[in-house]
Amino acid sequence: MQQELQLNGSILKRFAVLDQRKRLAHAYLFIGPSGIGKTETAVAVAKLMNCEAGREEFFCDTCSSCIKINAGGHPDVSVIDNGEGESIKIEQIRELLNRGKLRAFMARKKVFVIKNIENLTLESANAFLKTLEEPTADSLLILTTSIPETVLDTVKSRCHIVHFPSMSDHDLAGRLRNDHEVNARDSHFFAYFAQGSLTVAKRLKEDRFVEKKNELIDEFVLNRPEDARMKGLLAKKDETKSFLNILLSWMRDTLLVKAGVRDNRLIHRDRIDDLDVFVEKYTFEELKALNESIVKMCWLLADNLNIKLPLLIIGEQLWGE
Ligand SMILES: [Zn+2]
Repeated sequence: MQQELQLNGSILKRFAVLDQRKRLAHAYLFIGPSGIGKTETAVAVAKLMNCEAGREEFFCDTCSSCIKINAGGHPDVSVIDNGEGESIKIEQIRELLNRGKLRAFMARKKVFVIKNIENLTLESANAFLKTLEEPTADSLLILTTSIPETVLDTVKSRCHIVHFPSMSDHDLAGRLRNDHEVNARDSHFFAYFAQGSLTVAKRLKEDRFVEKKNELIDEFVLNRPEDARMKGLLAKKDETKSFLNILLSWMRDTLLVKAGVRDNRLIHRDRIDDLDVFVEKYTFEELKALNESIVKMCWLLADNLNIKLPLLIIGEQLWGE
C-alpha cells in the first residue's frame, strides 16, 4: 500500500516506546524534505495512540478507531493540510483550540496534525502559541515542515524536533520505477534532481523535466544561444537557477566521462554521445576549471548578483571555436 511505504518505521517505533514509558511530550515538529512521509507518519502515530486492538504491529488498520482515522473522520484526530505556500488561517487554529479543550470523544489521546507549519500567519501564531504553552494532558500536537528556517522560533523552541532523513537517490529511483511508472533512465535523473524528495521527483515527472533539460542542453550548452534567448533566460531567476543546476550536473558528468565512467552514475546517460563529443574538446584540468567557475556563478546568483558577464565568459569557453 502506498501510504504504508511512506511511513517512517523507526520514528513510529520511537513514539511507541515513548508512549509505553509515558514519556511523550505534548508537541513535536517533524522536519524533512516534502514527500518523505512526515504526515503519513504523524497519522500513523494517531492510530498507534488509539488503536483498539493490540500493539504488536503498532496498529491494526481494521478496528473502528483505525478505520475512522484512515477515512479522516475520527472526532479526536484532526489534520490541517492547506498545501504548500497556503497560509494557515486564524479560524483553523481557533477550531483546533476549541477541540483541544474538549474531552476526547473516543480517543485515548487526541492528535492534531498541522502540515507546513511555516505557513502560520503572525495572527494565527499568537493564538497557537497559547496551546503550546498550556497543553492539555490528553492531546498530542504534531507539526510538519520541509523548510525549518522559516518556522517561527517561538514555535520551534516549544516543540521536540524529529528529523526525517532524505531518501537516498538509489531508494528514490527504485520507488519511482516501482510505484510511479518511471523508466530506468528517467528515474535515475529525477532522483538526482529531487534530492531525496518523492514529491519533488513526481513534480519533475509531471513537468516533463527530462525533455526540458535536453532542450536546454541543446540550446545553451552544446550550441551558442541566440542573444534574445539568453536575455530571456537571465530575466527569470528561477529559470536561470534551474539552468545552472542542469549545467552543473552536465559538468559533473563530463568529469566522470573523462575519468572513464560510462554507467548509470552519469546523470545524463541518455546523452552519452554528446558527452563524448563535448569531453573531447577539453583536458581534465580545463573541465575542472570550468566546473569551478560555474559553482562560483551559482554563489553569485544565490547572493542576487548579476551573472550575465560571468555567464558570457563561461559561454565563450563552451561555445568558442
Ligand atoms: Zn486499530
